[in-house]
Amino acid sequence: MDRDVIIIGGGLVGMTLALALATHGVTSAMVDAADLDATLTAAFDGRASAIASASATMFRAIGLGPLLDERSCPIHRIRVSDGVAARPLVFDALATDGVGGALGFMIENRHLRAGLLAAGRSAPEIALHAPATAVSIDRGAAGVTVTLGDGTILTAPLVVAADGRRSKVRDAAGIAVARWSYPQTAIVTMIEHARPHDHTAFELFYPTGPFAILPMLPSEGGANRSAIVWTVDNPAAPGTLKLGPRALAAEIEKRSGGVLGGVSVIAPAASYPLGYHHAASYVADRLVLVGDAAHGIHPIAGQGLNMGLRDVAALAEVLVDAARLGLDLGAPAVTARYSAWRRLDNSMVGAVTDGLNRLFALPGAVPAAARRLGLAAVERLPALKRRFMAEARGETGDRPKLLVGEAL
Ligand SMILES: Cc1cc2nc3c(=O)[nH]c(=O)nc-3n(C[C@H](O)[C@H](O)[C@H](O)COP(=O)(O)OP(=O)(O)OC[C@H]3O[C@@H](n4cnc5c(N)ncnc54)[C@H](O)[C@@H]3O)c2cc1C
Repeated sequence: MDRDVIIIGGGLVGMTLALALATHGVTSAMVDAADLDATLTAAFDGRASAIASASATMFRAIGLGPLLDERSCPIHRIRVSDGVAARPLVFDALATDGVGGALGFMIENRHLRAGLLAAGRSAPEIALHAPATAVSIDRGAAGVTVTLGDGTILTAPLVVAADGRRSKVRDAAGIAVARWSYPQTAIVTMIEHARPHDHTAFELFYPTGPFAILPMLPSEGGANRSAIVWTVDNPAAPGTLKLGPRALAAEIEKRSGGVLGGVSVIAPAASYPLGYHHAASYVADRLVLVGDAAHGIHPIAGQGLNMGLRDVAALAEVLVDAARLGLDLGAPAVTARYSAWRRLDNSMVGAVTDGLNRLFALPGAVPAAARRLGLAAVERLPALKRRFMAEARGETGDRPKLLVGEAL
């Protein structure tokens, strides 16, 4: 066999997996259809991601600590409210938590991609094939053979599908997917604002969907900066995208209730259709699914990538353990351990985010009153608040060692 693992898809999840394996001596061939250098621009992906503290712990364990120190903004506080009128529910890591440490970190996807790609290129355990596509994937009893468009043949005991929500590898394996679309579109942009964000993430719920203002490091000139993820009804999306920077800034200021003072828009708005999907199985013969190839959720709580990173931590631990024991990395017992570890957690996060989105979308005075009562009740229950904060940090459940900061 050429390699221990073949990974199809070198997005944030696939590349993190290759690095997590490389850090522990497990070799991989990484195949991505895109020119990866072209994915490092804001024009390709202008989003920023909320990385839970546990995910950040894994990034540090695989050598990306300097990148996080330089490029990420800690989130110390999450302020949740039903529109601008209601009294907010505040999760304050510094004041009420007692545990200390940031709830998470905001980082631009392009910086994360650049850091992962540079680390991946310098790791001898990773053979990078990009841009390249697999013209055939043959999963036989003895191993997997992948043939690339240029005739290159790769062999390994296991192939990992990390090729995103429209995974061809998953579909070719005949794995069914439960999916639905939300009647909503996420509009994403970046703003500068007069008042400091004080490391606070604001989540304001409107009947059309959540409106999030997420703290970023200051602009190069030193101005206060935040990322916007604004969920609108589908019919409103084209009109919102057509707004000029001034009109968009005025809308953002109105929806934020002026919490950050005057606002100016500093990046073109981009849109993302929103949906939910979950693969019926994470494994097939000599195949496992990770990240968006396995599941995708509403970005309401900024958990989609974090779920994929938890998949990575679990799969890396399973494969490193198996390699040390000299086991076949594609054996059903090995892949089943990964699937059993990750399915329930992903199902629960998907159900909770879907439920939250539906709950806050209910129109009318009665649901609004119920939501406000609920927020006020959580505000008065410190134990429940601590539990929510542990969830935001990614510090609940049966955590793989990489998420706890332990060596594999
Ligand atoms: C508006 C919005 C905001 C979000 N914010 C957050 C957040 O704050 N926090 C969070 O945790 N999550 C967030 N998410 C979710 C997160 O962005 C995704 O879950 C994550 O990017 C998925 O990464 P991935 O590597 O699994 O898939 P992808 O990013 O889709 O990567 C797939 C890779 O596979 C490659 N590929 C595709 N097909 C093939 C093929 N046939 N052969 C070879 N290669 C192929 C692609 O080129 C790509 O590099 C957000 C999502 C949206 C829409």
